[in-house]
Amino acid sequence: MTFRPPKSSDKKAKEAMELAEASRETDWQHPSFLAELFMGRFQPNLIFPFPEQSSEDREVGDKFLEKVESFLKERVDPDEIDRTREIPDDVLRGLIELGCFRMKIPAEYGGLGFSQVNYNRAMAMISSYCGSTAVFLSAHQSIGAPQPLKMFGSEEQKKKYLPRLAEGAISAFALTEPGVGSDPAKMLTTATPSPDGKTYVINGLKQWCTNGPVSDIIIVMAKTPSKWVDGKEKKQISAFIVEKDMPGFEVRHRCDFMGLKGIQNGLLNFNNVVVPKENLLWEEGKGLKLALVTLNTGRLTLPAACSGMVKACLRMAREWSNEREQWGRAIGKHEAVASKIARMSSTLFAMESITWLTSGMADTGQHDIRLEAAMAKLFCTEAAWHFTDETVQIRGGRGYETADSLRARGEKAYPVERMLRDARINTIIEGTSEIMRLFIAREALDGHMRLAGDILKPKIPWGRKAVCAAKAGIYYAGWYPKQWLPLDVFPKFVHHGQFGKHMRFISQSSRKTARNIFHAMMRYQAGLEHKQILLARIVDIGADLFAMTASIANAERMLAANPDDRSPLALADAFCRQATRRVNHKFRALFNNDDASEYRLAREVLKGEMEWLEDGIVDVDYSTEHVETEESKPDEAVPPSRVAMPVG
Ligand SMILES: Cc1cc2nc3c(=O)[nH]c(=O)nc-3n(C[C@H](O)[C@H](O)[C@H](O)COP(=O)(O)OP(=O)(O)OC[C@H]3O[C@@H](n4cnc5c(N)ncnc54)[C@H](O)[C@@H]3O)c2cc1C
Repeated sequence: MTFRPPKSSDKKAKEAMELAEASRETDWQHPSFLAELFMGRFQPNLIFPFPEQSSEDREVGDKFLEKVESFLKERVDPDEIDRTREIPDDVLRGLIELGCFRMKIPAEYGGLGFSQVNYNRAMAMISSYCGSTAVFLSAHQSIGAPQPLKMFGSEEQKKKYLPRLAEGAISAFALTEPGVGSDPAKMLTTATPSPDGKTYVINGLKQWCTNGPVSDIIIVMAKTPSKWVDGKEKKQISAFIVEKDMPGFEVRHRCDFMGLKGIQNGLLNFNNVVVPKENLLWEEGKGLKLALVTLNTGRLTLPAACSGMVKACLRMAREWSNEREQWGRAIGKHEAVASKIARMSSTLFAMESITWLTSGMADTGQHDIRLEAAMAKLFCTEAAWHFTDETVQIRGGRGYETADSLRARGEKAYPVERMLRDARINTIIEGTSEIMRLFIAREALDGHMRLAGDILKPKIPWGRKAVCAAKAGIYYAGWYPKQWLPLDVFPKFVHHGQFGKHMRFISQSSRKTARNIFHAMMRYQAGLEHKQILLARIVDIGADLFAMTASIANAERMLAANPDDRSPLALADAFCRQATRRVNHKFRALFNNDDASEYRLAREVLKGEMEWLEDGIVDVDYSTEHVETEESKPDEAVPPSRVAMPVG
């Protein structure tokens, strides 16, 4: 059985898929560990030896981190930022002076030219302390103007904007709209070229743009006129550099969230904003690809930030589990709490391993990291949410109490409540977990799609299918039997010592995953794209196998550097054991599950057939007239340019 969406939505769904496909990076210029793993080829050489930061680069990072740490401790009060919804002006100026806004800008344009590893070390530290400050900095340079300019800007654009950004001009990235979240095909913002071709006129509304209300320079995605190829319309999305002083640009509303109270995030209106053609980034129609490629490295900040948060959580959970006594012993001595501590610490080791592995891969430029970055984002953001929640649980009632309230009654002001609120957004921004799983699944299937894609597409003529089947048949005749061979028996990987058995398991599971992908393709064919839960299980298996490999490689690196300390081995081993159980469970559920019946049940619920379940609640009408409150207004007291250093 295949799960097709209702017919009426088919056209829109098709358009959305076509746009997403057209914006994919199609080439694999460098190897990818995960792309290989999903094809049944476990290639440890793509991860081992674990990338090591050079001592010069480490020294640069160490010096910077020392300054950042003292600045944070002396000048930044994260609870005050949370309470007042403001990062004070002097804090932002201080961060600009320290260089925090130019970490990723190349030195030739006035930046610090940090490696991804050093940038992420700084972001991990800041995130462990103040989520709002970290997101402010990250929106500016992980996805804001410096990154796409560096990757796709012309030399003129780089010379014009990067020095300004290095001096403190703040930037943002505006893709989302009220109707455009995960699906950019629905974009309404337009950029219309003028008849003389010298300018574009931008009209539209962008939503939830982080830093938008205080930005000097914003990368805006907008629709440019469609192209017609073979009589078919091809939608074009393009990226533009927009400056806040351009007439017609207006901040409509400052948004307020569950957490990250100090960020400046808003609804931005573009009313006939005239942008010179020189401000088009890359080429017309390349905007979505630019956004996706920017996010491939931009996404690496989130794993670092999440690792930083979980480090802070572990510290608070460890101290409290030793200090708090209930039922005659420290709560950490009760098995239920001890298990949480063990899982938190071993998963944190995996999170860190993935973070530094992917950051190191990005620095070498020798790997295609689109899959690894997405996997790192998925794994670390979900783990961070889980473990901030577990920290609240370990703290008991105090976990639910604000730091201000704890401080006021003379208790240790652990900010767990704030951290939980701040952590929640990470599985939503920069690609929701659900979209990350679909993105990873698409890339994981790419090897098969290249070989057998035409067989799976419904509208391909039978003649083409037959040619494709013949070619694919030859390949699969050699490939498929290999996926069953018992190649991973002792003494393979024996040089990995205690990790040998885990390495054998990863290798075996890689082939088992590949043959299951193949079975799923054969069974569901074109309908596979709608089997989201099946695909999610495959992706989650890949995530655990990736995290296991990264953890083993990292533990071996640490052991080589310091043979007396065997604690990394214990952490990696514990993580591998937990992951092995999860992977085995997911394999069992691949084709033996309740997906179909749950889907049918959800359809009934969504049609309203079980509305009686909602009986007995207050019948509230949640629709609202637009009311502008003092809270929602953009901050007039602090004009948008307030934190920009004098430029030019
Ligand atoms: C604090 C904050 C900061 C942000 N900063 C920025 C920014 O700086 N710039 C910017 O452009 N945007 C920004 N965003 C927007 C953010 O990127 C979007 O919220 C995100 O892309 C998801 O879009 P959405 O909220 O409209 O959810 P939707 O796309 O409407 O999704 C709703 C739910 O449906 C699921 N879903 C959607 N499509 C599918 C599918 N095909 N299959 C399965 N499940 C699906 C999603 O996973 C999600 O669970 C920010 C948002 C917030 C809250």
